[in-house]
This record gives sequence, C-alpha cells and structure tokens, in this order.
Amino acid sequence: MTLPQKAIEKVNKNIKTPPSSTLGMLGGGQLGGFFAEAALRMGYKVAVWDPSETAPAKRFATHKFNTPFNDANTLNEFVSTVDAVSLEWENIPVELVESIQSHKPTRPSSKSLGLAQNRIKEKQFLRDNGFPVSEYQVISRPSDLVKVAQELPWIVKTATMGYDGHGQWRINTEQERDHMSSQITGEGPWVAERVVPFEMELSVVVVQGADGTCITYPATENKHENGILRMSMCPARIDPSTELAAQNLAKEVIKSIGDPGVFCVELFLVNPDQILVNEIAPRPHNSGHHTIDSFSISQYEHQVRALCGLSISQPLRIGSTVLLNVLGDEATTLSRVETTDLILKTGRARIYMYGKESVRPGRKMGHIIFSGDDIEVLEKEASEALVVLSDR
Ligand code: AMP
Repeated sequence: MTLPQKAIEKVNKNIKTPPSSTLGMLGGGQLGGFFAEAALRMGYKVAVWDPSETAPAKRFATHKFNTPFNDANTLNEFVSTVDAVSLEWENIPVELVESIQSHKPTRPSSKSLGLAQNRIKEKQFLRDNGFPVSEYQVISRPSDLVKVAQELPWIVKTATMGYDGHGQWRINTEQERDHMSSQITGEGPWVAERVVPFEMELSVVVVQGADGTCITYPATENKHENGILRMSMCPARIDPSTELAAQNLAKEVIKSIGDPGVFCVELFLVNPDQILVNEIAPRPHNSGHHTIDSFSISQYEHQVRALCGLSISQPLRIGSTVLLNVLGDEATTLSRVETTDLILKTGRARIYMYGKESVRPGRKMGHIIFSGDDIEVLEKEASEALVVLSDR
C-alpha cells in the first residue's frame, strides 16, 4: 500500500535516525560510495541496492542487494533491513521510491525524483514557478524540429534516461537539422532547446533539512567536454554579486520543491544579469566531490545529516580546488605507478578511483582533486595532469 505524499511528509518530518541504524542507498555508483564512507564514519551501517554486484558503493556496504530494482522479494527484504533511505541516481524507478517511502523515511522523496527524471516535467515546473530557463519546445516527432528550430543552433534531448551527453544531439546547421530525424533515437517526446550562449556553466549544491533549514555551498565553475563534466573549479571566477545571485536562485528552486535532501542545481551564466536554470539533480553531484577536501562538511555528510534529521550547518571553506575527472581509458594510464607518482609529485593532488571494472569511452572512472590557494595555478596543474593521462 502506498500512502498519499502529504501524509508521508507529515509522518517523516520529525523522524530522526540515530547512529548504528542502517541507511539504505538506492544506486551503487561513486556518489553512493562517498555517502557510504561518510555514513560509516558517523557510526551508521549502509545497505546498497544496485543490480551490479561490483557497483562502486558495494565496496563500503554492510548489506548488499544485487537484484534488479523491480524485484518484489528484494523490496520486502530491503525495507525490513533499513531505517531510512536515500538515492544517488535519478533513474531509480519512481514506483520503487513510492513503495519504500510508505514504510521508511526516504529523502529525497518521489516528488523531486519524479521531477528530475523527466526533463519535460522539470522544465514545466521551473517555468510555472517563475524560474528562468532556456527557450525550449517539446516535440513528439523528430521531424517537428524543422518547425520549431528556426534560428540555429539547437540541442535535442531525450525526456528521460539521458546522462553525460547520452541522448543529446546538437544541431548547428540547417542541413544537420533537416537530416536529424533519422539520427534521433529513443522514445519521444523530446525536448528541443535553443543553445544558450553562456559565459560559464555553474552548479550549486543545496542542502535542505526536514525542518526546512536550507544552505548552499559556493558555486563551482564547470567545464564540459561532449556533454561530460571535465573540470570543476571552486570558487568560481565570478564577482560576489553573481555568486550571491547563483546561490539564491539555486536555493529558491530547491525551497520551491520543498523536499529534504542534497540537491545540485546546474546553471548557465549568460551574463551577470541573466542566469538560467539548466537542470536539477536530486542527489550530491560530481561537481561537489571537492567538498570532501575543501569544506568542513562534505555534500555526502550532509546527505547523511538530511536523511537522518540531523543538523544542517553552513560549511566553512578550507581552500580552493580544481577537480579533474578521470574518463574512460585515462584510468588505464593512471593505473601505471609512474603516472600516479608523476601526478602526486605536484604535492597538491589527491586521487580518487571508483573501482569500476569495465572501461568505456567517457565513463567516469575516478577524479583528481588539486587543492591550494590559487585557482589559476591549480587549473594549470590539472591541465598538465590531463596531458599525462591522455598520453597512452
Ligand atoms: P544536460 O544533460 O542538460 O546537463 O547537458 C549536458 C551539457 O550539455 C551541459 O552541461 C552543457 O554543457 C551542454 N548543454 C545542454 N543544454 C544546453 C543548452 N541549451 N545550451 C548550451 N549548452 C547546453
């Protein structure tokens, strides 16, 4: 039986989950792994449910569930094992989260998950609540592009299951547009968006407690390659008023959803007077990994705190960081001791590898954090490390 959302929110609001309880994690990727590390450190046990036996978070799990997410027996066993549940992947089935949240506090709930896993619902929600988004149209047939995308360039995205540039097609010329129909895959409808001429991409991690406390981390400046995050700088190289505007916008978006948990709001900085919301992740974010190294409280510890009804506090920044993602084959290069040592010689690098067994092009295999004072110096070191990693 599933209870109505309002009734669940009321029941869950005041529940506090003490250390030594078992926290459930839906999804077993690296984000779940960092959550599990923080939870174990704080005295919790962690049950990870992911169909892959070798999912990164399983390295830290005290209980492992390896079946597909629609397995009814596992659902019963999982619910009776855990005291509270969070998630680390937006493509967890909403129905699964709805079933779990009727029995155990689940943060975030199906409310924000449902929004984040469907671009159409997400954009509609943002627009209805007065948040600025890029110009877009929903198309039910790829051939409709010719009608909607007059002034190019545009970008077409699948409404669901897109990640790291998968399920996205950029259209720069009329010729590309007119031949795009045959290349667009997946089930419609799709979202067609005008390409935003942004100055910079930013993201802001927001933490919302069950009691309504809401804090933000400073914005990170993100550089993508082929739709995949390549480097992330914190603090972002923006003026204080833009920083404030970005944090306020992200906070208002999350407050308007009103769900407890850790979220990331991805933004396009068009100019200091115009910031658009690109998308919302209902979970910690790749661009927030650096909070482990450079803040008094990481986004992962905050995920534990928000889940368990513990205090949400404004974290203190300890230093500046540049994050470099290790993608695909770069992990093979980094697995050579000489390469690892060359990178460590800078004295500012910390290497995090996720223990993924199979390498695929563009797959996030690990990341390196460069910490110090001067972002320019750190960015240079990260770029040099990238040259070393790319040298196969
Ligand atoms: P998304 O999956 O929507 O986060 O898109 C991945 C990346 O593609 C973004 O971080 C941007 O670098 C790029 N991108 C997506 N949508 C747009 C857009 N409307 N205009 C410009 N770049 C975009």
